Amino acid sequence: MRTIVWFRGKDLRISDHAPLCNAVSAGEVLPLFVLDPYFFAPSRAQEIPHRIQFLLESLVVLESNLRSRGSRLVVIKGKSVDVVPRIVQSWKADRVVAHSWVAPIGRERDRLIAEVLGDRIELFDGETLLQPGTLRSGSAKPYSVFSPFSRAWLRAFTSQKPLTAPRSLPPVAGEIADQSVPLPSCEDLGVTPNPRLQRGGERAARERLRAFLHGPAAAYAEQRNRLDLDGTSRLSADLKFGTLSVRQVWVAVREALGDTASARAFQNELIWREFTHSTLWDRPELMQQPFRSEFKGFPWRKDDAGWNAWVSGETGYPVVDAAARQLLGEGFVHNRARMISASFLTKHLMIDYRLGEANYMKYLTDGDWAQNNASWQWSAGCGCDAQPYFRVFNPVTQGKKFDPHGNYVRRWVPELAKMPAKYIHCPWETPNRVLDEADVRLGDSYPRPMVDHKQARQRYLDVASAHLKGGKK
Ligand SMILES: Cc1cc2nc3c(=O)[nH]c(=O)nc-3n(C[C@H](O)[C@H](O)[C@H](O)COP(=O)(O)OP(=O)(O)OC[C@H]3O[C@@H](n4cnc5c(N)ncnc54)[C@H](O)[C@@H]3O)c2cc1C
Repeated sequence: MRTIVWFRGKDLRISDHAPLCNAVSAGEVLPLFVLDPYFFAPSRAQEIPHRIQFLLESLVVLESNLRSRGSRLVVIKGKSVDVVPRIVQSWKADRVVAHSWVAPIGRERDRLIAEVLGDRIELFDGETLLQPGTLRSGSAKPYSVFSPFSRAWLRAFTSQKPLTAPRSLPPVAGEIADQSVPLPSCEDLGVTPNPRLQRGGERAARERLRAFLHGPAAAYAEQRNRLDLDGTSRLSADLKFGTLSVRQVWVAVREALGDTASARAFQNELIWREFTHSTLWDRPELMQQPFRSEFKGFPWRKDDAGWNAWVSGETGYPVVDAAARQLLGEGFVHNRARMISASFLTKHLMIDYRLGEANYMKYLTDGDWAQNNASWQWSAGCGCDAQPYFRVFNPVTQGKKFDPHGNYVRRWVPELAKMPAKYIHCPWETPNRVLDEADVRLGDSYPRPMVDHKQARQRYLDVASAHLKGGKK
């Protein structure tokens, strides 16, 4: 049996890779990656620089892991829908195996390819722990509330051991290998590498997992919300690109922490991940529209100045600005800071959540269709089991609570580095003497707040409640 193992950017590993193991046990194997212009055309790659950097690094490691086992990665340029059937024909493959994708764009690609290949393409689960779209509520509908989803999920799930990587792989025959092109570098695609990004690849991912288990994991339940501490796993890009499988992470955490509060808190986040994927699987239209239909036609404001200040971290609210600058600086934002920042954009500034969602997809290394869309809709109050629309985070109290010493702000907003903890989240309420000592000149070295919290909150609540009641303001 000749099998093409099609790696598709969400499973960039050789361990716990069901399609690869299945192919090896069946005979000859051709590991394939397609440089689809949808992601790899330079103009497109430049729109998602951090994801491209992580993806390319992970591919280099994948190629080296395959080579060390006697195989190689065959890299072909072109549209997947053209390339895959062509390689099936020229290599006389019996079948193609791959992991299935939840994202609508991947499902459409797979539908088109299946039209040509029929049952010669076989998709395996593995992006999530439970197959998305399988859990149904008492009324046989997809869940729209997290808690019952989570309970049903825990009842349905049985943990299984991850698969080990194949020890050796059959070599790839010459003729097809000759068609392979070298993997491009960031520079080839016009992307300037960012040295502050996490390193891609399976080995770096394992190191991150190990560091988490030996470090913050035990106190995850208490510290995960603290902006100033390294209290979370930082595995989101690994889960997004599959340099670790979610099953490997689940099992490793369980083995290391047992049934503790921290293990349960961490696993709860992975179940949120399952919820977002299952939701998008059942409702692909959410990529375009809000889950709560009463939000359709919401009167979002067009506010270029507000938008530019939010993107560049110049709103005058230190924790919001720190989040924006962390995103641009290292392609990552702490979860709590994402929530504060998204709430500020959609409620204080009343700017359409879809713009924030797109900006996060542009710069987040872990930018993921299901998680990002669900989280933005949650923050804007229009999503599946979203936070109530009338809950408006106060960026000052959030900052004081989750960055109590101000170190998160100091790191990302260096012009406030000398501010004392008491005032760092509200420079405009700071006595002049303290500002002078900290070398802060409001409106000059650091902006004054671009909106007043109370007024902006009230403006939003008035507009939102009128819209949601169906009235006009
Ligand atoms: C506005 C907004 C946008 C977001 N966009 C993304 C995104 O594009 N990609 C992404 O992976 N996460 C996204 N999240 C969820 C969350 O912020 C990140 O998963 C988390 O911060 C990643 O850091 P970590 O790996 O250290 O998380 P940990 O706290 O260590 O959590 C472990 C894993 O659980 C998953 N997870 C954690 N929190 C959530 C959550 N709320 N919803 C779904 N899954 C979760 C992630 O895969 C994460 O790696 C977003 C959240 C918000 C509020």
